[in-house]
Amino acid sequence: MTKIRSTDGSGVTDVRGQSGGGGMGGGSGFPFQIPGMGSGGGGGGGIGLPGGLKAGGGVLGIIVLLASIFLPKLLGAGGGGGSQAAGLPSGSGSSGNGAVVCTTELEQIVCGIDHYLDGYWTSALPKFFGVDYRSPATVEWFDADLQTGCGTGSPEMGPFYCPADEVVYLDLAFMQKLENMLVGTTSDLAEQYIVAHEWGHHIQNILGTNAKVQQAQQNDPSKANQYSVALELQADCYAGVVIGDANANGLLDSATEVNEAIAAAKGVGDDAIQMKTQGHIDQDAWTHGSSQQRQTWFMTGFNSMDPTTCDTFSEVL
Ligand SMILES: [Zn+2]
Repeated sequence: MTKIRSTDGSGVTDVRGQSGGGGMGGGSGFPFQIPGMGSGGGGGGGIGLPGGLKAGGGVLGIIVLLASIFLPKLLGAGGGGGSQAAGLPSGSGSSGNGAVVCTTELEQIVCGIDHYLDGYWTSALPKFFGVDYRSPATVEWFDADLQTGCGTGSPEMGPFYCPADEVVYLDLAFMQKLENMLVGTTSDLAEQYIVAHEWGHHIQNILGTNAKVQQAQQNDPSKANQYSVALELQADCYAGVVIGDANANGLLDSATEVNEAIAAAKGVGDDAIQMKTQGHIDQDAWTHGSSQQRQTWFMTGFNSMDPTTCDTFSEVL
């Protein structure tokens, strides 16, 4: 167990239970069942996904779910106007009800890493890049479809960051389910790695990295996936940097605890997901990097504690 925990929910907007959009029934659970988890399903029933996608049980369903894990939401500029995040509940969640208090263990784990990330990057961004840091607009906890500056977000997209509104979107319960499915277990440090990875995309946004990548992808679409991989691995490396810093500050319980984060990084490698879902590996389709790459870059950051070592672009391109 890491010691990175907090009950302070400042910076968090909690819109869970405020979906307003009916139809999901029950309000408690997810709009679908994850294949292979819990309630029967046996590969028969399809999974209804937004946009009319119908994924068959089992394998295909997982592919659809996983395609966007840790998705860097680069749609901001290209995503057709984005309607300036018009419907964003900016502040409506928390300011209406007062400050968010992080009560459950998972909430405290996430709030703890939020504050650690904010503190780390406040000093590290000027130190290593000569650039001022700004916090994400908010960290939004959600559990149903919602409007974001990058279009409609849904729980099954996994955790994501939207550069257009600078919000980190987390469905906490779903994050744990994904972790269970991919890594086989949940752990606090693995969850903190996920949050730190999304924060890494925020850092890339401040530094203008993802804007450059988006431009490069448009200039050379044949390398679009490789650019995406480099961007994702860099976010892994940035996550490693922060967790390495936490380790140096004595906030991990033991030297081996970092294995929890490594297991998570490996679990979401494109090759691991492909093997799990389609039984073979297709490197051309990678968008996030292999298990080995994700582990390697996480550890590069962890060991160096220097984000300027996260030059994933020279390796991948
Ligand atoms: Zn990502």
